[in-house]
Amino acid sequence: MRGFVPVLLGLALASQGLVAQVPTPASTPKPAACIFCRIVAGQAPSKKVYEDSHVLAFWDIQPRAKVHLLVIPKQHVASLKELDDLSVEARAALLSACVKVAKDQGILDKGFRVITNAGKDANQSVFHLHFHVVGGEQLREDAITKDPAPQP
Ligand code: AMP
Repeated sequence: MRGFVPVLLGLALASQGLVAQVPTPASTPKPAACIFCRIVAGQAPSKKVYEDSHVLAFWDIQPRAKVHLLVIPKQHVASLKELDDLSVEARAALLSACVKVAKDQGILDKGFRVITNAGKDANQSVFHLHFHVVGGEQLREDAITKDPAPQP
């Protein structure tokens, strides 16, 4: 059987009440201050693994799996909520790049996970759209439900 390839998208499906709204534009960093824009511009370092005209992919600075890459559009958009601001070509390039970098890391067939956090409830911390591509080892079965409430 082919490798199981779960694709989890922490989508900002506010209309379905699954995830909260992303911040208002006033709280979203402008590209000049955005760390991922600075990486795209070569003004901040990164461990780059892939680049094309639309997309950059690099290692997460704090990897939480043996393979933990970030795939980002070169054009600044804050989150998946603003996906429609990207060209159709850039949108396609993002997903294709997720698969390509997984293949290049040798994790395509054993299984990998693609996650994007959008907004507060999803714990988005960098407000430049990015897809986490993680794998290289057995991942937690459940990356969807909320954390348990802290015990008193
Ligand atoms: P999120 O919490 O989904 O917004 O993910 C943001 C990710 O960006 C985190 O996993 C961080 O470790 C990662 N990150 C933040 N700054 C950098 C950086 N300069 N280079 C690479 N990864 C970064």
